[in-house]
Amino acid sequence: LFKIPRNPPPTLLHPEKWCRGFNHFISQCLIKDFEKRPSVTHLLEHPFIKQVHGKDMSLQKQLAELIQEQQQLGSVAKTRRPYHVDGADKYSLDDDLVNLEVLDEDTIIHQLQKRYADLQIYTYVGDILIALNPFQNLSIYSPQFSELYHGVKRSSNPPHIFASADAAYQSMVTFSKDQCIVISGESGAGKTESAHLIVQHLTFLGKANNRALREKILQVNPLVEAFGNACTAINDNSSRFGKYLEMMFTPTGAVMGAKISEYLLEKSRVIKQAVGEKNFHIFYYIYAGLYHQKKLSEYRLPDKKPPRYIDNETGKVMHDIVTKDSYGRQFEAIQHCFRIIGFTDEEVYSVYRILTGILNTGNIEFAAISSQHQTDKSEVPNPEALDNAAALLSIGSEELQEALTSHCVVTRGETIIQTNTVDKAADVRDAMSKALYGRLFSWIVNRINTLLHNTENGMNIGILDIFGFENFARNSFEQLCINIANEQIQFYFNQHIFALEQMEYQSEGIDATTVEYEDNRPLLDMFLQKPMGLLSLLDEESRFPQATDLTLVDKFEGNLRCKYFWRPKGVELSFGIQHYAGKVLYDASAFLEKNRDTLPADIVVVLRTSENKLLQQLFSSPLTKTGIFCIALLTLQHLQLPTPPKLFVFQVDTMEVMRHPEETTNMKRQTMASYFRYSLMDLLSKMVVGQPHFIRCIKPNDGREALMFSHERVLLQLRYTGILETVKIRQKGYSHRILFDEFVKRYYYLAFKAHETPLGNRENCLAILEKSKLDNWILGKTKVFLKYYHIEQLNLFLREV
Ligand code: ATP
Ligand code: MG
Repeated sequence: LFKIPRNPPPTLLHPEKWCRGFNHFISQCLIKDFEKRPSVTHLLEHPFIKQVHGKDMSLQKQLAELIQEQQQLGSVAKTRRPYHVDGADKYSLDDDLVNLEVLDEDTIIHQLQKRYADLQIYTYVGDILIALNPFQNLSIYSPQFSELYHGVKRSSNPPHIFASADAAYQSMVTFSKDQCIVISGESGAGKTESAHLIVQHLTFLGKANNRALREKILQVNPLVEAFGNACTAINDNSSRFGKYLEMMFTPTGAVMGAKISEYLLEKSRVIKQAVGEKNFHIFYYIYAGLYHQKKLSEYRLPDKKPPRYIDNETGKVMHDIVTKDSYGRQFEAIQHCFRIIGFTDEEVYSVYRILTGILNTGNIEFAAISSQHQTDKSEVPNPEALDNAAALLSIGSEELQEALTSHCVVTRGETIIQTNTVDKAADVRDAMSKALYGRLFSWIVNRINTLLHNTENGMNIGILDIFGFENFARNSFEQLCINIANEQIQFYFNQHIFALEQMEYQSEGIDATTVEYEDNRPLLDMFLQKPMGLLSLLDEESRFPQATDLTLVDKFEGNLRCKYFWRPKGVELSFGIQHYAGKVLYDASAFLEKNRDTLPADIVVVLRTSENKLLQQLFSSPLTKTGIFCIALLTLQHLQLPTPPKLFVFQVDTMEVMRHPEETTNMKRQTMASYFRYSLMDLLSKMVVGQPHFIRCIKPNDGREALMFSHERVLLQLRYTGILETVKIRQKGYSHRILFDEFVKRYYYLAFKAHETPLGNRENCLAILEKSKLDNWILGKTKVFLKYYHIEQLNLFLREV
């Protein structure tokens, strides 16, 4: 039947793998047996194995390789679990902070620091995972590790991000419920890397028979990030958009598709970058790729000096492109991503033409024409740039010039053409580039969704990776939006960990100790409330043509009378906000213009005439998120929550009809602030339907150095993310609350016979709990209250039964 060598592996970390190649059924039996009694000697005594003889060389060879692999894995595992609880030590060194006896900042930070020194970057706080950025590549993410963390007890292995992904997956499969993994942390803390690792592990777990689909899903992140990430002062691969990736699974847990939602791309980066920062990666990739393929002239790009939009540090980019080929290689990788995901050659070609069209647009210059009658007219002194841009965008060069240097005004039924000043023309040019890029990005995301979406019924795991909290030397409108979004995510976390939990204890008549935490709701109200919140004030001021950034800050000062807002003396356009994560000073220059985000109709008209079908499509209909608003409302209404928690009441308050800002026809113009608000609501509406899992990324130092642990920086992050309070509440609290009926349905096997149909009442829950011999649970009025570790234990019992 099958053959097995006489010399078995000395260590056996991977029964599944070791049994690979054997009859499937027998492997399963062996695995089950091994799980119960993890001993190699015992395994060899197994009647199946004892019957087997033979000298199958290929199998022996395969096993020899496997044994070697197992040994390597064993040694890694050994070095990666360096702690032994030492009673003499004040700090009980454990993988889960909840087990600490002494719960103070010093103890927690000491624990994290020691673990970090041993490259134990992951630590649990109950069911929450803390991930310290190692700033170096660790060999703990190989497929062997995926196997190691596959469906085993959490305590069998050191904490790992794969264990968290596994928990979400198991929870989805066991309870047929959508899950949501929320990754948070400041810029450069490791959110995006963590998101990649989760996708990698979930793809492994959801072993689709369809290999092509798996390949496609793995290409999504690199592609989207080439267009949405950029080098900032803090992070060389900083996400400049928010991403919610939903991985879809069949009811049995096989991957069947994926869907991305993108939020708030920082379009202004296309036209200008702060000192030391760069444009979106894709621009460098394409320029370098075309340079090395000697195709720059085909796309009308100069080969001596990169276009202005990507050359803010004169000479540096060109030097990088010529001396190292990493950008060029990235370009090839992106071409590969497009192909694997399923974009057609024609589509990819159109994307390249639009990208290079944007680069050429940035090179169009304007000069003033002064004549006796007119002093505010502008012309293009470098018509070749204009021709190049027009050619790549497949539009008429004259029409483009006209739309850039003049605009139509309709007054009392009459259309008058007015000329643009040099500054205005440059603004129109930049607005066009931003709109082109923003719409192209949304199109790529939508196209990926079409190619990977699966409409069959199933479940999903959403992974949220948004831009982290930012505090630069100069903070503008973009930082304000990013920080408000982080404020909202922190609120969501607080609601789940603290507020909902405490509200439910009360309503179920359970006396649980209340843990104090920093509630950032007043701060969120200051931003989002209507009509006097910061965003509403910004919108109101944006409607006055005479308003300036200074009148805006005055307005903030006059209306936002709370401790979170202040205006420093002597700096007119500045205002400060006390965020949950620290004080940030904002510079209000260009706030109004950025908020209005106007794209003149004249430009839209010209772009619609493009012969490039894709470009035409980008501007022919408003890029809608049509219906999402309704879905969001419906979702909120259908949430079956025990008590109406404040979070949702508050969301509905702030939710008005908000549409995509570009949907302006017959409607009051929409601003970035209103779109931003809409995006936040949309995101939350998606998140609240899933069972949340939290990953808190922490940046151990600002210098991006491996093994450097800044006590001060980590402490600050632990404080503002409320880790200390989280440890307390996880230690004392009950993170799982299950209705009696549901509990009996899930676990009745543990105390009843298969054919029985026990009622979902208190007594039957009690019977199950007593039979399962768990400690520390509580029965409320309608629900069973369980500690975070109980679920895993119950599931294990279930499997054994
Ligand atoms: P932002 O908010 O700016 O997008 P982020 O939190 O997404 O930041 P990442 O881009 O994930 O941060 O991480 C920053 C850098 O830290 C990565 O480019 C990588 O060099 C390093 N890093 C993060 N996590 C890991 C990890 N698990 N292993 C190795 N390096 C890591
Ligand atoms: Mg990121």
